[in-house]
Amino acid sequence: MSVETEIDLEQEKQDILSKYRGLLRASKRTKTKEERKRIRKAFDVALEAHKDMRRKSGEPYIYHPIAVARIVAEEIGLGTTSIICALLHDTVEDTDITLEDVEVLFGPKESKIIDGLTKISGVFDQSTSLQAENFRKMLLTLSDDVRVILIKLADRLHNMRTLGSMRHDKQLKIASETLYLYAPLAHRLGLYAIKSELEDLSLKYKETEEYEDISQRLKKTQAVRTRFINQFTLPIRRALDAQNISYEVKGRTKSIFSIWNKIHNKKIPFEEIYDLFAIRIIINSNPDEEKADCWKVYSMVTDYYQPNPDRLRDWISTPKANGYESLHTTVMSPSGKWVEVQIRTQRMDEIAEKGYAAHWKYKEKNENETNLDSWLTKIRESLENKEDNALDFIDDFKLNLFSDEIFVFTPKGELRTLPKGSTALDFAFEIHTQVGSSCIGAKVNKKLVPLSHTLKSGDQIEVLTSKKQKPKEDWLKFVTTARAKSRIKNALKEERKRIALDGKEILMRKLSHLKIDFINVNIAALEQLYNFDNSQELFFRVAMDRIDLKLLKKLNVEGGRIVLPKPKRAKNKGIDELVAKTKGSGNKLVIGEDQQELDYTLATCCKPIPGDNVFGFVTVSDGIKIHRNNCPNATQLMSNYAYRIVKAQWQSDELLEFMAGVRFTGIDDVGLVYNITNTISQELSVNMKSIGFESHDGIFSGEVMLFVHDTDHLSSLIEKLKDVPGVLTVERINAT
Ligand code: MN
Repeated sequence: MSVETEIDLEQEKQDILSKYRGLLRASKRTKTKEERKRIRKAFDVALEAHKDMRRKSGEPYIYHPIAVARIVAEEIGLGTTSIICALLHDTVEDTDITLEDVEVLFGPKESKIIDGLTKISGVFDQSTSLQAENFRKMLLTLSDDVRVILIKLADRLHNMRTLGSMRHDKQLKIASETLYLYAPLAHRLGLYAIKSELEDLSLKYKETEEYEDISQRLKKTQAVRTRFINQFTLPIRRALDAQNISYEVKGRTKSIFSIWNKIHNKKIPFEEIYDLFAIRIIINSNPDEEKADCWKVYSMVTDYYQPNPDRLRDWISTPKANGYESLHTTVMSPSGKWVEVQIRTQRMDEIAEKGYAAHWKYKEKNENETNLDSWLTKIRESLENKEDNALDFIDDFKLNLFSDEIFVFTPKGELRTLPKGSTALDFAFEIHTQVGSSCIGAKVNKKLVPLSHTLKSGDQIEVLTSKKQKPKEDWLKFVTTARAKSRIKNALKEERKRIALDGKEILMRKLSHLKIDFINVNIAALEQLYNFDNSQELFFRVAMDRIDLKLLKKLNVEGGRIVLPKPKRAKNKGIDELVAKTKGSGNKLVIGEDQQELDYTLATCCKPIPGDNVFGFVTVSDGIKIHRNNCPNATQLMSNYAYRIVKAQWQSDELLEFMAGVRFTGIDDVGLVYNITNTISQELSVNMKSIGFESHDGIFSGEVMLFVHDTDHLSSLIEKLKDVPGVLTVERINAT
């Protein structure tokens, strides 16, 4: 190590110590030896933890926590606990120090605050889109300890003050974030000085040229303002002196940000704004005489200048919600210009600048943590209070930043952002595709809800899954996120593909049986014949037995190739009708005007199947029963119990099966029963529940109970049975 570097390091050590001593001097609330010891300990821990780290500017990292602690003590007015936490605020996140270390070394309160701070910044850096989310998290942390927010504000203020050494894109990101999230928060907490500085600094990096322009112009016009203020206040100062009132006069221009805001939002030129300022008269006063003293000064001011009666504001009798107290009046100056005069005591001024945090100083002589806690509680209450306007700004945030997002939690407390309107199923897919695909329901805030349940911000969701579950077509109706939609569609596609493969096998066998080559041109011809867009759809329908393969027998085949009828013949009623029948009919039941999927049972009197026109009947003990509209009992039910009838409608879900009955007659023949059962179970791959038959004088009759998908399926099946040799009639029956 060179001598020069050594000297530099020695100098740095001195600088660090001097900054630390500056912090102690600024910590006016820290009175006892014990408290100073604790601060020293925090300083030593932070110094050691950050010893090898440097800021972007090249400075030792410890400068930052010391500066933050100093803002916390001096500009916000917090006590020892906050100073300690400010010193340690980056240790758990960036160094080897753990929360347990903090708890052991300093205590549970400190460890909890550091935990809050670490959590906030931990998620803050990830991306721009996470800002709002993390800000919300920060607000949620409020209920634990509002000091987390105050220290975070101090941290942000120091980062803004030292933003110059960051990369430009980072500067923009941090400046925007500050303007949108932190400045309004500071305003809410009554920290006007900090709010104003945050705004100005944000502008400096966001609109550098305009910022410089306004600040240059303000500098140039400073002398004019000072002269004006001196002249204007001269008679007042004389009167105050004559009364032996000790006071201070400040002439404050608007902040650069608020001037910029006026120029941009209200289109007022700089020339009309720069001399808009308030003259502040701050007096020393006894606590008991504050109000009277302020009005006394008001009376002096208006002795010289004419007040505008509409512009008198008495925030002393009725302080603002955030604690602001002051007497405002606007008077006419000799030059014909309105000037706002703010009259307040030192105590009020400090509260105006530092917010609630300044209260402690005046509350009790021997203030302690309990006292501190009580006003921290007050801030928290003000932020949590929904009765008055205390939460206005948070509502604005919701409107501006959270309007299209909700924030929900996993059972472990992890935060997830979802678009507004997201359901439990969206959340499940957000967690993992597998979780989404096998989701059968969820517990929201420990309560069982269906997949379609719409989530609200703050909900905690536990997803319930089952290995047997598969994505369903109707899931698409109640998911919002692109992720869930695409995952469900993919899964459905996969399922169709799988079924289509079976269909392809079936079709291959069928075609080879008919001596039709399984070649592309033939498949294309079949697609055309059955009016499908692609072969997969064709195969799928074949597998689901949703098309009439009997048509194949009627096809004109030459040398293994299908010769399709001319377009005119394609209009053939028979084909069209069959095609129409195989498409579009649904077979999942939705009930009521809202088309809900309620539990129901199928009436045994008419055995409805998908495609039937049906209605629901609310029974006394057996839930909703579904009847066919042409059920023998329908008229009686509808006329006597109209109020118990609910609308019911089939919708598509091709994988379900329903039971239906078929009666047939034929000429008794040894092979008949075999032929019928064989046709049903082998050729048609339909499951039979039961079959019964009897024979009478050579005439045979019987009934089969079958599982079918819907009416189309059933009628094509009936058609096929009619073709069985020896069969005379086939018809659907209602009852067994
Ligand atoms: Mn920091």
